[in-house]
Amino acid sequence: MISDAVQSTDGATGAPSLALTPANVRSLDLQFDKLSTEQVLAWAWERFGARAAIGTSFQGAGLVMMHLAKQAGTSFPVFTLDTGLLFPETLELKKRLEDFYGFKIESLEPDLSVEEQADVNGPELWNREPDLCCTMRKVMPLRDKLSTLDCWITGLRRQQSDTRAGIGIIELYAFDETSGRDIVKLNPMANWSRDKVWEYIRTHKIPYNPLHDLGYRSIGCQPCTRRTGNGEDERAGRWIGFNKVECGIHTFLPKKVDFQI
Ligand code: SF4
Repeated sequence: MISDAVQSTDGATGAPSLALTPANVRSLDLQFDKLSTEQVLAWAWERFGARAAIGTSFQGAGLVMMHLAKQAGTSFPVFTLDTGLLFPETLELKKRLEDFYGFKIESLEPDLSVEEQADVNGPELWNREPDLCCTMRKVMPLRDKLSTLDCWITGLRRQQSDTRAGIGIIELYAFDETSGRDIVKLNPMANWSRDKVWEYIRTHKIPYNPLHDLGYRSIGCQPCTRRTGNGEDERAGRWIGFNKVECGIHTFLPKKVDFQI
């Protein structure tokens, strides 16, 4: 049985609270390290129901996560960030996955179209200020979505890059420091290797982005994604020419618990 170890209480009523404290999260992370991904997902479904959602950009782990979530008997909503600058192959993959899994995947879009952004900020902002472009096209739509959730489920893996090597299976972030509202981030596949992900995809014949077969290992927006060599980090093909390895969606919120791996 999974235990929160430290039961939190609602400040106003004294009743048990669904909110997790940093102590809860440390305790749960230790327990989750010994559990299967399906067991971690089942815990999230039992605790949060549809207030937890899977966010995916259709990298390998996200594809596997949707499959495992179904296997675990859960029905998490699934969303993706459609920046308006994705590869046609990625948009096509979304439709193939909806057919394969039999559920809709919500597309979160920025306030401004690519053309409107060019009018306001000049053409091809990604070539000049990729941080601002990512903030407008990814971070802000995600923030809006997270304001409706208690738990955000991601396909992050520790092996993907140095910036992800220290992630927990469960993490806690301050979502709104004024109101004190936190959000749980679940990375149930943190321990998975790339080889294990792709073995699972092949075994279960899950649709995947054909660009992977052309040397793209991490696929984001078309202007900011290149092929990578075998000796490079999986994410080395993103934002070539800039000192940037993360779009910001995994770094814009303050983390409340740090894990040392
Ligand atoms: S990945 Fe590139 S094109 Fe996409 S939002 Fe970020 S800077 Fe803009």
